[in-house]
Amino acid sequence: MEEYDVVIAGAGPAGLTAGIYAGRDGLKALVLEKALKGGMGSTAPLVMNFPAFKSITGMELLKKIGEQASYYAKIRESEEIKSVEKTPERIVVRTDKNEYSAKAFIIATGTKYRELGVPGEMQFIGKGISYCSICDGMFFRGKEVLVIGGGNSAAEHALHLKDIGCKVKMVHRRDELRAQRYLQEKLEKEGVPIIWNSVVKEIKGDTVLKSVVIHDRVRDVDEEIPVNGVFIAIGETPSSQLAVELGAEVDAASYIVTDKDQKTNVHRVYAAGDVTGGVKQLVVACAEGAVAAVSAYNDIKIEE
Ligand code: NAP
Repeated sequence: MEEYDVVIAGAGPAGLTAGIYAGRDGLKALVLEKALKGGMGSTAPLVMNFPAFKSITGMELLKKIGEQASYYAKIRESEEIKSVEKTPERIVVRTDKNEYSAKAFIIATGTKYRELGVPGEMQFIGKGISYCSICDGMFFRGKEVLVIGGGNSAAEHALHLKDIGCKVKMVHRRDELRAQRYLQEKLEKEGVPIIWNSVVKEIKGDTVLKSVVIHDRVRDVDEEIPVNGVFIAIGETPSSQLAVELGAEVDAASYIVTDKDQKTNVHRVYAAGDVTGGVKQLVVACAEGAVAAVSAYNDIKIEE
């Protein structure tokens, strides 16, 4: 069993920044990531509100944060945590490859994409359905695509798809967007059409996606629209299972409850970033990761 001062679950902005702060404080820190470092933040087409960068892609920003974190913490990618257990003295973390023991545990596992839950969605993932325009947008250059959702993510995806040459429309279930004003203005300026008051009923195709049936909630009619691609951006659900396993409190929407020091109700277990809900911004995730690491450091030092 490998021993660490702190094990951090998740290598998005919160987990990586926790790694930077933990390492700089002299803690032996390990960041475990089930996929590749960067997290959902690296799928942001353009970040224009992270201090010090007027405009930077999510991928480039997270690459920089990841490089910095690797100076201070060990980062292991493609290693999924399978279970976590709290003993009186330590926290034992078991992955698909290894077993670790730590004095403190920081959960920075973020969120996962919410699914529409309509017929055809699962069938056409990778065959026309995507949740990430940065990853898959280029396959639809010059083609007809729909973006489902009315939040910041949907707006950003639509703008990115338009920018790379897709024929994009948005579909939103209400008559006003949730997205921030500057994004709404940009959509208007770029002339992105929005199909209002409409929800997706079914996604159809054969070997690839061919059309989408949408239901107009005001007129109470269905319409089948021929499209090549559908980008779903209808929000997220927190990946908080590890907290539940440890007995840490989660709220009604399954976000981990923390205090201002990012402490959960379980001793030496902390949470940071989108998995705690609140204001989901890259800079907030980084800040919470820093606070969690400093709290872990203080608790370890006070109690030693
Ligand atoms: P979000 O803000 O929760 O918006 C989800 C959108 O999808 C809403 O417009 C919602 O409609 C719609 N929706 C939800 N369930 C639906 C369903 N079953 N069918 C159809 N539509 C549905 O999610 P998000 O845009 O992914 O953003 C997540 C968080 O990250 C937010 O806090 C956001 O501010 C943040 N974020 C920030 C930035 C930025 O600052 N640039 C960029 C991306 C994300 P209603 O509006 O009717 O509820």
